[in-house]
Amino acid sequence: MCGGGWVFPRLRCPFCGTQSSKDLVRLEAVEKEEGYFISACRQCKAYVKELDRRIRWNAGSALIEDWGSPHFDVVAIREGYWRPIASLIHLARRA
Ligand SMILES: [Zn+2]
Repeated sequence: MCGGGWVFPRLRCPFCGTQSSKDLVRLEAVEKEEGYFISACRQCKAYVKELDRRIRWNAGSALIEDWGSPHFDVVAIREGYWRPIASLIHLARRA
């Protein structure tokens, strides 16, 4: 990870390495917010939150945005996905 936050390669799962496009899915929260996505992998059931800074140009740091979007985690967890990276802890340690 480059420390930039929710970077997720489009064509490959960074956790299990699958390159199968049918396994790399994008989940949407019920309360849709433009510029926010969940990228998930059906192979290993991992997910990450993503922020499109072209749209959310005034967004805060990944840490702040992560705290501010718990409903995305709810959606992903309800779908049976899990989060392989404890980003909050990770970022806190580096700060
Ligand atoms: Zn995967």
